[in-house]
Order: sequence, then C-alpha cells, then structure tokens
Amino acid sequence: MTEKTYPEWRRLADSTVLPAQLFIDGAYCAAEGDAIFAKRNPATGAVLGQVARGAGQDVDRAVRAARAAYEDGRWRGQSMAARRDILLKLVALIEANAATLAIAESLDMGKPVAEAAGIDIPAATAVWRYYAEAIDKVGGEVAPTNAGNLAIVSREPLGVVGAIVPWNFPFDMAAWKCAPALAAGNSVVLKPSERSPFTALMLAGLAREAGIPDGVFNVVTGFGGEAGKALALHNDVDCLAFTGSTRTGRTLMGYSGESNLKQVWLELGGKSPNLVFADADLDAAAASAAMGIFFNAGQVCSANSRLLVERSIHAAFVERLVAQAAAYQPGDPLDPASRMGALVDGAHQAQVLAAIEAGKAHGRLVTGGAAVPLQPNGAFVQPTIFDNVDPASALARDEIFGPVLAVVPFDTEDEAIALANDSEYGLAASVWTADINRALRVSAALRVGTVSVNTVDALSPQTPFGGNKRSGFGRDLSLHALDKFSSLKTTWIKFA
Ligand code: NAD
Repeated sequence: MTEKTYPEWRRLADSTVLPAQLFIDGAYCAAEGDAIFAKRNPATGAVLGQVARGAGQDVDRAVRAARAAYEDGRWRGQSMAARRDILLKLVALIEANAATLAIAESLDMGKPVAEAAGIDIPAATAVWRYYAEAIDKVGGEVAPTNAGNLAIVSREPLGVVGAIVPWNFPFDMAAWKCAPALAAGNSVVLKPSERSPFTALMLAGLAREAGIPDGVFNVVTGFGGEAGKALALHNDVDCLAFTGSTRTGRTLMGYSGESNLKQVWLELGGKSPNLVFADADLDAAAASAAMGIFFNAGQVCSANSRLLVERSIHAAFVERLVAQAAAYQPGDPLDPASRMGALVDGAHQAQVLAAIEAGKAHGRLVTGGAAVPLQPNGAFVQPTIFDNVDPASALARDEIFGPVLAVVPFDTEDEAIALANDSEYGLAASVWTADINRALRVSAALRVGTVSVNTVDALSPQTPFGGNKRSGFGRDLSLHALDKFSSLKTTWIKFA
C-alpha cells in the first residue's frame, strides 16, 4: 500500500501527467478529426485534460489492429510461460506505478486517494496476477465416450473482445475484463467510461512496456453513444464484456442482435439487501452496514443499499448506524483522512439529490440528505439514511448509486427473505446472525450471485462475481471468467 501525507498527495496530483490520447496498435494517437472532450475533476470542477473523443472510425481502427494481432498469433501463439511472464511484468509495473495510478483514479472520479491506493489498485493488481498465473494451469478435458472414441475438449481464444466498463472502479473493472480475456489468448479493445478515462490509458502504456505485443491491447476513449456503440455494433468483435447500468446492458443486447450476434456478458446494477437479525454482533453489523453503503460514496454495484433489520433491534440499530455515518462526511479526496470523496460529477450529484428529495415522501430522513459545498463546483453529498422506507417505493427499489441507505424493518425470517428477494435485481446480499443454521438457510433462499455472512460485499479474485435477474449474467473473477473468453472445441477421434 502507498501511504502518503496530504501534502505529498497534493504534490503528486500537481505533477502527474494524465495521458489523453487513444491507444491503438501499440501507440498513443489522436481521435479521427482530432476530436476531444474536456474531463473535469469532480471534487473541484477543474479541467484535468482534453481527452480523445473516439468514435466509429477509431473503433474500427482498433478492432482491425486487434484482429490482425489475433490472426497472426503474436500473442496467443507465444508459449504459456512467455505470456505468463509478460502479464507478471505488467503486475510489477502496476505496483511500481501504484501511487500515480491511485492519484489519477482519485482526480478522475473523486474517490479518496487513500482508498484508491489502499484498495483499488492492489485489488486490480491481484486480479492481473491471478490470471497471469492461471495461463499454464487451466486446460481442456477428455470427455467420457463409448469405446473406440476419443473426444478432446480444448479451449481456444474467441478472437477480439470488446470491454466496456463503468466509472466507479475504473482500474478494477478494466482488470476484471481485460486480464482474463488476455490470459485466454484474445485481443482486446477497452472502452473506459467517458467519466473516468485516465487509468485505462495509463494501463495501455504499462502493457506496452511489459511486452504485450502491438495490437493485442487497445484503448478507445469516448462516449457511450459513440465509441461504445460503435464497438458493440462492430461486426468483427466476437465478444462484449460489459459492466455498467441495466439500461445500457439492454441496449447492448440489441446491438448484438442487430450486428453479428457477438456474445454479450453483462454485469449490471443492484439494490443489494443487508439482512440484520437481532442475534447478530450489532457493533460489527452497524460498522459494516455503513461501509456497505458509504464506501466509494455508494457508487458500488453491490452496495448494500437496502438494510432489512429485525424490528426488536430496529430503533437501536438505526441509532448506531447514524453514529457510524458521521465518519463518512465527505472530505477532499486527496486528504488521506477522508473516508468519502466526491460523486463522479455534478450531473450524478443532481440525480442522487433528486432521488433523496423524492424519497422524503416514502421514508423518514434520519441523517444527511444534502449536498456539501466543500468546493464551489465539487459534487459532494452527505451520507444519507432513510428509516421506515416503504418497500414498494422507488427509494427501496431503484438503484440510486450514491450514499443513500433505505432501512426497512421486518418481523420474521420469512418476511426478511421475501423483502430481500422482492427486487428486480439479484447481485449480492449480506446476512448478519449468530445462528449458523439461519445463516445457511437464508443464504440458500436469496436469489443473488454473492451472499456475505457476517461481513459485507466480500469478494476475491478466486471467487465468481456476478448477478441474476436484471443484475445481468455471466461471472467475472475466478477461473470461471475464463469461460466467457474461450470457445470450447471438441475434436473426435475414432480408433480401431
Ligand atoms: P453506464 O451503463 O452508463 O456506462 C457504462 C459504460 O457503458 C460506459 O463506458 C459508457 O460509456 C458505456 N455506454 C453507455 N451507453 C452506451 C451505449 N449505448 N453503447 C455502448 N456503450 C455505452 O453505467 P455507469 O453509470 O458508467 O456505471 C454505473 C452502473 O454500473 C451502475 O448501474 C452499477 O451498478 C453498474 N456496475 C455494475 C458492476 C457489476 O459488477 N455488476 C460493477 C460496477 C458497476
């Protein structure tokens, strides 16, 4: 972990040069027609850079470079050891540049730099290392057959993978898609969010330095409706790996149908429930519940944004939560003492504040609820808790993607499960109880991809992550993610 003082982070912020050009076929380059867009720091409103605004022709150039690299085998044709060592060199370069990557992430999307340095960058590093090391460990299989037959099932890379990622964990989400896609032998075109383009572009430079051959890893920055749409509609992209909103996920499915029926994998939104039973360790549960909604200012797909709490402890638990929320008052993201930074931009801040305003008709606002004028143009919002929320209201059902918690009391275990499952989403859930039987019973009944018992939002590179229902399908992380980026080929051999 990179520990620095406030003045040290500020100095690093002033001296960091943020790359702003596309990265295609091993070189940084301008977008067609020198198109650019201004990228601002959400904590201050200051312009951080003029970023290349990629669109159709740029995407086409990147896809053609990726296809050429795939066809001539300059990456997938290398030995397993060579590819593993290149990705491990990338890991070392990410570690060597961790502080610069952390500051870029913080400036770009407003998260506390101490969290970017202590959590985001190390987490992405672990993902890259995991898939580098998986390269020579995951093989095919020999299927059971009748006598006189041999059926070999081998894994082949798909070809060109388009990765479209969001802004809440830009460097991590890029790792979740690109590391397994590259480990499986594909070429990649990465489209970061227009709200957080910088660390993807930094990653491209590090990938080149590590020895990933030209054309194998490309980054096209730009807007969703331009660069993203062009990538999703491209007829020579074999697979689209997406993390983002449910709305965009639907659109991408349509683009696949309109174009070449490319595979589409969707990691989408959530409204994850956190179930707290009366027998739980309430101090730990309250601290974790606060972290589950206020970490990253609630801009977490699996944020525990619905708190279902047993009625007998409800009032006392909400008191503890309010006390915990105080620790998350927004501060300058460059101050290592800040536990919550800015939201990603003013437009998102306005949406979150509008959801809070509308929520006042459906629950009792017990803390927060307002913008924080830390800087005249800073997108800060207080940690906000609503109690006794109507489970049928938008406040309890819609993803707000901000530091806003909806508390709903329950009386019985069955009611808690019914409330938890009464959602369009199915990404994650947490359960707090001292009773192992209840923990297992409730976990089994929840229709989600990940259940965290007596913790919140647990994940690791070794475990699959993804959702059900409108939270999408397919799994990131773990060896299972390699399946998304591989084609299984069966070769039959008949012998006498
Ligand atoms: P978003 O859907 O607006 O954008 C995500 C990406 O899609 C961006 O790169 C954007 O440019 C691109 N995009 C937008 N419109 C497009 C189009 N028409 N064609 C192609 N690309 C397009 O989402 P966001 O606001 O960046 O991220 C927040 C969302 O991401 C939340 O819903 C959150 O829950 C979700 N998320 C999910 C996970 C997960 O693992 N399930 C993780 C993080 C975030």
